Amino acid sequence: MAGRQPKGERIFRGIAVSAGVCRGKILVLHRTRHVIGRRELTEAEVPGEVQRFEQALVRTRHQILELQRKVMKELGANEANIFDAHLLMLEDQVLVGEVIRAVREQKLNADYVFHSVAERYAEAIAGANDEYLRERTADLRDLTVRVLDNLLDVKDQFDLRHLAEPRILISHDLSPSTTAQLDRKLTLGFATDIGGQTSHTAIMARSLGIPAVVGLHDISHELDSDDYGLLDGYNGVVIVNPTDQTLFEYGQLLKRRASLDEKLHEIETQPAITLDGTPIRLSANIENPGDVEAVRTHGAEGVGLFRTEFLFLNRAQLPDEEEQYRAYHEVAAALKPHPVVIRTLDLGGDKFASHLQLAQELNPFLGWRAIRFCLQQPEMFRRQLRAILRASAEGNVKMMYPMISGLDELNQANALVGQYRAELRAEGKPFDDKMEIGVMIEIPSAVLVANSLAGPAKFFSIGSNDLIQYALAADRTNEKVSHLYEPTHPAIVRLIKMTVDAAHEHGIHAAVCGEMAGDPVLVPLLLGLGVDELSTAPTGIAPVKYLIRRLKLEEARALAAFALQSSSPAETLNRCQTLAREIAPSLFESKI
Ligand code: PEP
Ligand code: MG
Repeated sequence: MAGRQPKGERIFRGIAVSAGVCRGKILVLHRTRHVIGRRELTEAEVPGEVQRFEQALVRTRHQILELQRKVMKELGANEANIFDAHLLMLEDQVLVGEVIRAVREQKLNADYVFHSVAERYAEAIAGANDEYLRERTADLRDLTVRVLDNLLDVKDQFDLRHLAEPRILISHDLSPSTTAQLDRKLTLGFATDIGGQTSHTAIMARSLGIPAVVGLHDISHELDSDDYGLLDGYNGVVIVNPTDQTLFEYGQLLKRRASLDEKLHEIETQPAITLDGTPIRLSANIENPGDVEAVRTHGAEGVGLFRTEFLFLNRAQLPDEEEQYRAYHEVAAALKPHPVVIRTLDLGGDKFASHLQLAQELNPFLGWRAIRFCLQQPEMFRRQLRAILRASAEGNVKMMYPMISGLDELNQANALVGQYRAELRAEGKPFDDKMEIGVMIEIPSAVLVANSLAGPAKFFSIGSNDLIQYALAADRTNEKVSHLYEPTHPAIVRLIKMTVDAAHEHGIHAAVCGEMAGDPVLVPLLLGLGVDELSTAPTGIAPVKYLIRRLKLEEARALAAFALQSSSPAETLNRCQTLAREIAPSLFESKI
């Protein structure tokens, strides 16, 4: 009797979005599509149909609010706010109005009309230039399914609250609202065909602590439920029918990872100080007051970059002065006496608030963004500057402007601050008269005039993400030119050195707050170039600190000296990797 052929090992590679490794039986989720027919209505049926649609909207709204309450209780405000986008779309008078009008005028059934209108909107958003907006397509499709479920009286098709046994979930996509309902104990991990690092589903997976891999192309069609799989959320890999050898290797990897996690946990409360005794300021990048807890638990010394634009996105109205003041004040008060550097609004480029209805630009990264935009939107800028000044009364607030290209912009912005200080003084509202104001150095022209910026600017913070894109003319969001986007390019090394030198000549300090600061491979180079402070995402703090505590500054300086005379980005990167792996090998051992 021929036995069943064991299936061979298969490896799928995607994008790692939530750390951890799990193994177990797979459950492939195939959403059964709604059957939506086109039905003509009689005149008498029309009012009933409109009412049916409106009731479905009300029911959907209740369900989303319920979900939002649940997420708020279990995960917190950041994750709960994700559903604001759903609610906004649900209340969008243009979309709802268009459906009702079409039902009335064309006398067609609401499910058919709603589905076609919502799909048209989703396609338009999916084709948008702006990444943030594109990612809202998943939210709109999620909402569309919910409204159709209610219109067609279909039960939630993916009720994942009651899995019978532990499973790795595989699906084409997993909407944020489905993700929010996952049973944490029985969901071992999940993997999807589509999605990116910054999608809401990815953010939610990280908050839930469920290992996840996205962007696996068509894995949901390749696998069957009950296949046995292993999901690696560190390296973005799913392995089906893993061999004994693979399972053994993963066993080893997990042991190494557990021992690294323990080491990282141990140094959370230790100072960031090099082996030869130089303390390095290590601070965190945050986007919301809710991130304060993570700043503390990961052992950062305050905030080096508070990206305030996230208070402006995903909502119907701009935040007023009071709301902003509360947000800035909350962070400053919670982290006192550590400094909190609040960056003024950096909208535009790839961060874009839909309610501002900015015209599409041919070159958004070279266009009307950040300080350029704020200086021309005086009312909006005034609200933010006043809010920051008022929060500065806590005594530990600093402020910086993004995208400064030259001295004029800095002087103009500082003149406004002077004006608002006078206003607040007249109103008897307290603020810190000595609050330091700095600039982000992220445009090459700012590096070239750094000598005149230092003085009016009390510190520099190098935005390496933008500095690299502008210096090398390589769009940071365009995969086709990502091979040109090289942090170790000699031009970048020299720009950083020039910035640090100009800062030090004028007795001010130079930080780096772009992604380079959170990459343990590049940290020795930055410190060797003389950078005084590194600011990175809270989860990036411990690995960087671990490396700093094993680094001698003289090794870092030798590396920087090599990089400054090298003409090869690859050679410099290679040297950086060799040094980092030599002094902190455990940081690199959970890679396969
Ligand atoms: C940068 O450009 O490096 C930076 C920190 O700012 P953002 O990524 O928000 O543009
Ligand atoms: Mg920037």
